Amino acid sequence: MSLSHDPSSQLGRDLPRHDWTRAQIRALFELPFPELMFRAAQVHRDNFDPAEVQISTLLSVKTGGCPEDCAYCPQSAKFDTGVKAEKLMGLDVVLAEARAAKAGGASRFCMGAAWRAPKDRDLDKVCEMVEGVKALGMETCVTLGMLTGDQARQLKHCGLDYYNHNLDTSPEFYGEIITTRVYQDRLDTLEHVRLAGIHLCCGGIVGMGEDLEDRVGMIATLASLPVHPESVPINMLVRVEGTPLAHVAVLEPLDFVRTIAVARICMPASVVRLSAGREDMSEETQALCFLAGANSIFYGPKLLTTPNPGRDRDVALLDKLGMRPMD
Ligand code: SF4
Repeated sequence: MSLSHDPSSQLGRDLPRHDWTRAQIRALFELPFPELMFRAAQVHRDNFDPAEVQISTLLSVKTGGCPEDCAYCPQSAKFDTGVKAEKLMGLDVVLAEARAAKAGGASRFCMGAAWRAPKDRDLDKVCEMVEGVKALGMETCVTLGMLTGDQARQLKHCGLDYYNHNLDTSPEFYGEIITTRVYQDRLDTLEHVRLAGIHLCCGGIVGMGEDLEDRVGMIATLASLPVHPESVPINMLVRVEGTPLAHVAVLEPLDFVRTIAVARICMPASVVRLSAGREDMSEETQALCFLAGANSIFYGPKLLTTPNPGRDRDVALLDKLGMRPMD
């Protein structure tokens, strides 16, 4: 392939573009690895300081017992994974965790609740948490499932900065992973959040048995949203015993790195988060992800219910790479 005639080589420094075609995104995935890495690193440094990493901490404020059937999720009530259903955490406990996260260097505190959609009385309590965390001087993010327009406006009113709602995979593969809702439900919530004026955190999961075309379709959908999500988490599936994906074939790490690189190129101004799956990832793979344009991680020993590298390991890795937390 002659790269100079490849439409995907038009990596404007004046992006973001919203008209990426699947053919262009596929062509990026199929580039020789060094070429893809070079282009992604170039886009990264055109838009960010490549030595900086945004640090977030994620706390499960309501664990387990979820009525949805996301095939990757240990919190679904439909799978026997040993995760116990718990009630919504008290405000004091949440604020103590947020203070500890701030002391550990986190600039954003994310709170996740395993709901299909929040009830209005639950949302009032989440709003108190958002207000409390904001008062500590941190950015706030919540992930609560599907929202109505009114609920999104209520969250905006209480000062929420980010709402996480992942598209997970391509529209075509979605039905293989979740049967209790449809892709359009996700897009509707994303629109409610966007219209309420809350920043979006939206990405997906790879390594769920999808093929390359599904990774292409996922990035194409994200990159053609009316405004690119400000934060794009790319997760590597954590295979949890008891879930339907417990024994799915492991994705080649370099295919994960490619997904990060293509996300970086297609959404140049977004923060791309190297999200779940780092616990089983070598330092070398994580370093390649940073080179490919990832510039955010979750700190802390747990990501909702699955393990994550401890803070000390992350500090040591960032030190080794000469990288530092984003202010
Ligand atoms: S991913 Fe979220 S919506 Fe799906 S089962 Fe888990 S907690 Fe429920």
